[in-house]
Amino acid sequence: LPARRTEPSADVRRDRLTGETTLVVPEWETAKAANPSALELKMPSGTTPCPFCPAQMDQPVTSAGEETARVAGGSRQGSWAAVSLLNRWPHTLRRDASEVVVLSDDHDAHLGSMDLDDASLAVGLLLERAEDQRQRGLHPLVFVNHGTDAGASQPHPHGQVIGLPVPDPVGLVEAPALVPGCCVLCEETPEDRLVARLGGASIITPEAPTVDYDQIVVPTIHGPAEPREIAAGVGAALRALWAVTGPVSYNLVLHLVEHPHVHVTPRTARHSGYELAGLHTCYIPPTVTSARLAEAATADAMREAARRSDAA
Ligand SMILES: [Zn+2]
Ligand SMILES: [Zn+2]
Ligand SMILES: [Zn+2]
Repeated sequence: LPARRTEPSADVRRDRLTGETTLVVPEWETAKAANPSALELKMPSGTTPCPFCPAQMDQPVTSAGEETARVAGGSRQGSWAAVSLLNRWPHTLRRDASEVVVLSDDHDAHLGSMDLDDASLAVGLLLERAEDQRQRGLHPLVFVNHGTDAGASQPHPHGQVIGLPVPDPVGLVEAPALVPGCCVLCEETPEDRLVARLGGASIITPEAPTVDYDQIVVPTIHGPAEPREIAAGVGAALRALWAVTGPVSYNLVLHLVEHPHVHVTPRTARHSGYELAGLHTCYIPPTVTSARLAEAATADAMREAARRSDAA
């Protein structure tokens, strides 16, 4: 019998943090590049007038929902920097456990464009509302949808905090990987998965990205989340992403137990059937996406440093 060739049949990655499984099929990149319009950022038209703009939010009675907290200040000299509200369309049977957090008084801002002080206040409110739910015995799920393809129904920047009766399934899988002493996020990240090292956080690409240009913002310290470190990391990750892909929709998922971190997941591909079987696909080798993001993050850091020295 002729000797069988033993070629690997597929590049399959399994992520030790999320438990996700990814097939890397790089030959497809050229095919997808032929249809880039499928990936462009589209914003929802939303309700008119916008319920989250100051003109509506500062009315005595608003259409947005019952207010739960308000953070004053912000660089724009408005009356508030961020506001949380009970979601008028709750996700669970507990009507007090679904909140919307309006992240800015600026209709056209997002966490990649906001001033760091303002973004820190917004992230701080997301964390505060999550902690409020945790203290009420719920399991907070914290996420941001930006763009129609990411599930946003309003264009105004906002996040959601949902107090679930059970932990979310991904968080449950991640918990054993985040135990102090053998936490995968405390490990040194290999250079080919490192996008940027900031003051208090790193930006890395996952072992098994769920989509091309998937990133994780990982605070350096294993402990309670610091809003400013997270805001700085998320801002830098989003700017690097858009510098490489152009504006695309994205989701942020904030996991806040043990070693807090943020999944920065762009909608750079449509679901295609694999996902229903628990498989993700990447069309670009993760080392390549990581290198492209790292180059963009370096350029962004240089621009930020120049801007700060101009301001000083
Ligand atoms: Zn608005
Ligand atoms: Zn850790
Ligand atoms: Zn996570």
